[in-house]
Amino acid sequence: MNFIKNLFMDKCPHCNKVLMNSTSSILNPIVIKSCPEGHYEKEYHSALETVIEKHKY
Ligand SMILES: [Zn+2]
Repeated sequence: MNFIKNLFMDKCPHCNKVLMNSTSSILNPIVIKSCPEGHYEKEYHSALETVIEKHKY
């Protein structure tokens, strides 16, 4: 259940700001959302049905 919860959590776990969508192309199968302060980044790989989280703080 934690994975499902994380999948829909679009806030930085560090500063709780809403993540910004930084994907430049709609043809890109990878959606990247990141904290505006640079703490945290999340990549959605739709083809692989995988989420990669990067903690930067
Ligand atoms: Zn943050």
